[in-house]
Amino acid sequence: MLCRIIADTYLLTAWLIKRNDLSLFKRYKAYSVGKQKLFKLHLEEALPADNKDAERAIESLSESINEELWEELVTIDVGAPFEGMDSRKMAHETGLERVHRLVYSPYSADVHGEWTNLKVFHLQRCTNPLHRFHRLPRLTAPAMLVPQIVLDAAAMLAGTLRAWTAYYELRDAGARIDEFEDKIAGAFDIERRDDTPDQ
Ligand SMILES: [Zn+2]
Repeated sequence: MLCRIIADTYLLTAWLIKRNDLSLFKRYKAYSVGKQKLFKLHLEEALPADNKDAERAIESLSESINEELWEELVTIDVGAPFEGMDSRKMAHETGLERVHRLVYSPYSADVHGEWTNLKVFHLQRCTNPLHRFHRLPRLTAPAMLVPQIVLDAAAMLAGTLRAWTAYYELRDAGARIDEFEDKIAGAFDIERRDDTPDQ
């Protein structure tokens, strides 16, 4: 599940940098602040009046929103953050199709609780032969951390940081990311793959 989140961030960061369009960076922030404002309005509606904790939570949200933009001017948009764009198109534009096909897409099943995920992690067969092998809920998930997942996560994290440091021309930081990747690959005794986004 963490891999899916890291892949999301990787594709978005690489895409924003590739486009290098100020209006898209602004849109990225405004969309998120808009959702925060909507959450604040829902909290005001849902929480009881004269509740100190509720007041504090709402006040802190207000501060966070106003830090970006004057709250009154924040528009709430519940559509897509970038019109006409999705992660598949972002991957195509940045040459990160492999990340989309092999990480983003398959792990989306875990984030969205799809059937294939339920079957593997959350259900088990009933052992009573008379019950025709129906499935039962399983409360403890099997431990399934394989080295490749750690390597994929590290490669995507490094790719995200590399896109960012290249944009700001932070060469020292870039060298440290190489070191980090080599160290991880060394720990698993595997040669690292290169998924650098197209600039
Ligand atoms: Zn049964």
